Amino acid sequence: MCLFCKIVKKEIPSNIILEDENFIAFHDINPKAPVHILAIPKVHVDSFNEAKAELMAGMTTFIQEIAKETRLDESGYRVITNIGEDGGQEVKHLHFHVLGGAKLKWEHISDADPKGYL
Ligand code: 5GP
Ligand code: ZN
Repeated sequence: MCLFCKIVKKEIPSNIILEDENFIAFHDINPKAPVHILAIPKVHVDSFNEAKAELMAGMTTFIQEIAKETRLDESGYRVITNIGEDGGQEVKHLHFHVLGGAKLKWEHISDADPKGYL
């Protein structure tokens, strides 16, 4: 069973912010911003590549609820999902990083040469 499936089953403790039938949100163990929350589906999905549109519809509403609950909806925030090797995905269970609580940096994130139009 993967790490986040264990968090869903409460076999590994986490600092839960919001939970419903299908989704759970908890604080990232290694925060990269003053607020760094992970939102995940309870069902195991490897990554965004495998996410069904219906699941994403629910995830959208769930993330909006997290933003409202934490008042990030007023100050602004960022939602990120890392996918696969180049995306830097470490945990192979679909998750969305919800980042905020301060003005976030927005810099280029690769030093590789631009490929132009593929
Ligand atoms: P990824 O790099 O896969 O997009 O993000 C995985 C995230 O999970 C990282 O930000 C990492 O800090 C977080 N993480 C890894 N293990 C745990 C854990 O056991 N508990 C919590 N709350 N977060 C974790
Ligand atoms: Zn899993």
